[in-house]
Amino acid sequence: MNAAPRPIVWILPRMLAGLVALVFGTAIGYFFGEQLHLPLLASLLGAAAAAGVMALRDTVHGVRLLNWLRRSLDGPPPRDSGLWGELAHRIERLVRLREAETAAERRRLDQFFEAIEASPNGVMILDGLDHIVWFSTVAAAHFGLQPERDLQQRITNLVRSPIFVAYLQSRAYDQPVKMPSPSGDGVLQVVVRVFGEGMKLVLSMDVTERERNEVMRRDFVANVSHEIRTPLTVVAGFIETLANLPLTEVERKRVLTLMAQQTGRMQALVSDLLTLARLEGSPRPPLDTWVPAAKLLAVAETDARSLSQGRHTLRFTPPDHPDVAAAQIAGAETELLSALGNLVNNAVRYTPEGGSITVTWDVHPDGEGRFIVVDTGPGIEPEHLPRLTERFYRVDSSRSRDTGGTGLGLSIVKHVAQRHGGELRVESQLGKGSSFTLAFPAARVRLGSAHDGRPGVPAVASQA
Ligand code: ADP
Repeated sequence: MNAAPRPIVWILPRMLAGLVALVFGTAIGYFFGEQLHLPLLASLLGAAAAAGVMALRDTVHGVRLLNWLRRSLDGPPPRDSGLWGELAHRIERLVRLREAETAAERRRLDQFFEAIEASPNGVMILDGLDHIVWFSTVAAAHFGLQPERDLQQRITNLVRSPIFVAYLQSRAYDQPVKMPSPSGDGVLQVVVRVFGEGMKLVLSMDVTERERNEVMRRDFVANVSHEIRTPLTVVAGFIETLANLPLTEVERKRVLTLMAQQTGRMQALVSDLLTLARLEGSPRPPLDTWVPAAKLLAVAETDARSLSQGRHTLRFTPPDHPDVAAAQIAGAETELLSALGNLVNNAVRYTPEGGSITVTWDVHPDGEGRFIVVDTGPGIEPEHLPRLTERFYRVDSSRSRDTGGTGLGLSIVKHVAQRHGGELRVESQLGKGSSFTLAFPAARVRLGSAHDGRPGVPAVASQA
């Protein structure tokens, strides 16, 4: 931008030039007028011609400036001197200043919209007639909108959920409303705030996960209540029987045995619930506390033999390689015992008498450690497999309860596996049997050293 010409620089020359032109015009008019004997008229005409020339010169400058303005200030302004030069210069300076201010304003606005876009919640602005003025990408995803298609459309023509339409028309926006997500099968929470002259700010939040958790929590409480109420009712009935009826010693013993069974069921349930609560509330199992796999197998074998009472063929086959046999798992011993114990316990409980159960420990070449529990029990239909680890999910409820099941065993196993960075895999064939694999990642498995009987840190998982 040029430096502003100072007014004093051009005002004087401009006045002088005007004066000179007038004098010169008048003099020439007078000179020619005298010969025609009309000196006064000719002088006036000469002065008028001089004024006209000056006006013409100004018009040319003015038109040039106007053209530049008409071209929306495209390119540099006309570089005239004097009044027109300064006029062009000042207009240009003013306009460029406004442009810079507008650009700064736009940058701020862009930042503002970027901040809204960064929000995990959807934001939409409606005008007084509920036409969409603007919406964020998240709002577009929530309501299934497309910017090029849906801007300026009335929102109720696009989002037709009766809950949403009724909420928008109610004009009572104190509380948010929950509605089925128009773009999927989730749940949206929407709240409206009025601002300006009837404009509306529509804020949307995906609460699918929260709703699912809420439903799970309600189901869980209902399930626990149901599981406890049944044995409680039975025990209450027996107490009434004992209190009111004269029973023989044999009958009394039978009633007490049944009562003990029911209280045992409640104890098992409470114990599993506490285990689950502990698993959910405690920090991840340590990475530097090593539990020998052989020890876990030995405890599981003792429990299985005591539960089976010789009704099954139990095989706890030791691994071929001594390093694998002496391998260790990094984690919480009680949790690992509980997980393996639950799998072996299930195998014994669900496999009919005469069946066989094989439990093995193996370390895969990629370093993954696996307990595999295979039984020749009834097997599980494929459609049940994905839901097997849900709390209280049972394929056969009466069989589960009759054998002392709480419906929480596999849920505990899955939790333990996940907390140790591993997973539970189930394969089963109806009528043939099932195979449950409790797998731990290489980072939590280290092979034992067969040479000196002390655990080493060879090949696998030295990073653990
Ligand atoms: P439960 O206490 O009922 O055994 P779990 O969570 O341990 O609960 O198991 C869930 C369901 O999976 C059981 O009710 C049962 O139907 C099925 N199941 C578990 N283990 C076996 C198995 N080894 N063979 C057949 N079905 C099994």
